[in-house]
Amino acid sequence: MKQQSWRIVVYMISIAVLFNVFYSYMLREAGPTAEISYSRFRAELAANNLKKVSFKGTGVRGEFLRKIKVVETVQGKEVAREVSAFTTTMPAVADPALLGELASRNVDISAVSQGSSGLVTFLISMLPWVLILGVWWYVSRKIGKQMGTGGMFGNFAKSGAKLYGVGEKVDVTFDDVAGMENSKLELKEVVDYLKEPGQFRQIGGKVPKGILLVGPPGTGKTLLARAVAGEAGVNFFTISASQFIEMFVGVGASRVRDLFANAKKNAPSIIFIDEIDAVGRSRGTGLGGGHDEREQTLNQLLSEMDGFDRHEEVIVLAATNRPDVLDPALLRPGRFDRHVVIERPDWRDREKILKVHARKITMAEGIDFIAVAKGTPGMTGADLENLVNEAAILASREKAPAVAMVHFEQAKDKLLMGGERKMVISEKEKRLTAYHESGHALLARLLPGTDPIHKVTIIPHGMALGVTQQLPEDDRYYYPRSYLENRICVTLGGRAAERLVFGEASTGAQNDLKVVTDLAEKMVCQWGMSEKIGPVAFTRGEEHPFLGRKLAEEKGFSEEMAWKIDQEITAIIRNSEKLADRLLSENRALLDALAAALQEEETLDGARVEEIVRSV
Ligand code: ADP
Ligand code: ZN
Repeated sequence: MKQQSWRIVVYMISIAVLFNVFYSYMLREAGPTAEISYSRFRAELAANNLKKVSFKGTGVRGEFLRKIKVVETVQGKEVAREVSAFTTTMPAVADPALLGELASRNVDISAVSQGSSGLVTFLISMLPWVLILGVWWYVSRKIGKQMGTGGMFGNFAKSGAKLYGVGEKVDVTFDDVAGMENSKLELKEVVDYLKEPGQFRQIGGKVPKGILLVGPPGTGKTLLARAVAGEAGVNFFTISASQFIEMFVGVGASRVRDLFANAKKNAPSIIFIDEIDAVGRSRGTGLGGGHDEREQTLNQLLSEMDGFDRHEEVIVLAATNRPDVLDPALLRPGRFDRHVVIERPDWRDREKILKVHARKITMAEGIDFIAVAKGTPGMTGADLENLVNEAAILASREKAPAVAMVHFEQAKDKLLMGGERKMVISEKEKRLTAYHESGHALLARLLPGTDPIHKVTIIPHGMALGVTQQLPEDDRYYYPRSYLENRICVTLGGRAAERLVFGEASTGAQNDLKVVTDLAEKMVCQWGMSEKIGPVAFTRGEEHPFLGRKLAEEKGFSEEMAWKIDQEITAIIRNSEKLADRLLSENRALLDALAAALQEEETLDGARVEEIVRSV
């Protein structure tokens, strides 16, 4: 399609050029022309030097018998040149003697009507129409392309066969995807299946149908999906779900049908649906205004996925950053029941990504990719690609022979300051986050009965700058009070560490405080874990079973009880906070060691945390 629009531009330009050539041909002059004064014109007439004149309104043009010299000022300099033709303007005061004089001196007189010649006038008057038609045609094609129809001239109900065709042959492979080893490993299975479906089934592999790629924008979800198609050598069909919603009513569902029909016809193939949350939001929650078109599209998608034959080698990959808003129906077995979580890269992966993109440009010797990678925490693959490009642009602007370290530094500054909202963290923030997360991690390690640490990271996750993940060893169904208190203590640990090390808390603990408050509220109001309130349950703190929102508060208790509840909630939190403060200051050396390791390594797993704790 890109070629199409270029062709149109070329057509337009050629028409304009031809038009100009034609126009100047029509109005061509004999020899060089000069604009002269009326008195000069009169003087030349008196000197018998006029061959012919032509009048058009008050404009006069004509030719001399002999060339004359005119002096003109060009860029402040006087320049003399010889001309054989002239133009001039008649004074508004009529010169009745002129015609007689011209005639008496045998000058050839002609007159052009006010407009220009018929054909020229016609063509000029057509020009705006040609332009308007051209622009309209062009725009309608563009819109048509987005709507997936043949443009305004096309037929909306037309089969999408042409639209999706036989899919795309991709030449991207896993080699082009830097890092992400775990995700690649998970998708390797899909590649194996698509390559040798029969064999895969024979050895008893469970064939996945739908896989959800979950991760922030720019982390390479599309790239990964393409690489799967490339590795397996199958057709790649892609669509962004937000496009469904923008389209005319009824088109979304039919496009989904066409997409799947084409993918099946050209199996083995991969369908990649980007931004699936655009159509896949929960139905019927009343949130988002019950978008009919969207629901129809979603229903079509669900029924297509259910309609897969066991022998159809079509795999649907979908990308989202918001798995939480997806309709549960989408995630049921047989649909998108497999999730591959893609996170922002850590520095080792950032180094690899930088190197992948650096392959395309000339690099100076001895570029320290590790330093660049360590200096760009929070950047995604797309950001890093952008960084490399920016460095290359800066280098070429300087006419440097190769991209050097300075260019990376400048590019980084430019990207960070360029107003683009980038998740890039300063050294100071990095240190703060490292202590905050170390606070959580250390308390989780020190307090008895807490869930083991799975991972601690200072790589941004969603809205949070860092994460400490604990995973229970077994599924738990009952939570003892001590467990909950320790959990509150661990959650407060981030803030406690900030206060201990930096002397004050930051806004980074907002979510922690919410978690802590909710938990303490439930302990008091629902689980009867407060001595003062006793073993009673109130509706306070209950959540809507489906929407996850707090129920509107219907108070089933007195003002006095409400006050007591607040006191108890605060007391539970305060006690845990004291414990957190005490434990952290008693183990300051451990906290420092963990924070230092985090700043250096960005992500620590449980074993590494253990190792650090033991080494101090
Ligand atoms: P998403 O679909 O997650 O928004 P994309 O796949 O569109 O992200 O990534 C945008 C670009 O960033 C890719 O085209 C690629 O050039 C670059 N990129 C992202 N992740 C990686 C990676 N792991 N290795 C190499 N390039 C990457
Ligand atoms: Zn925290």
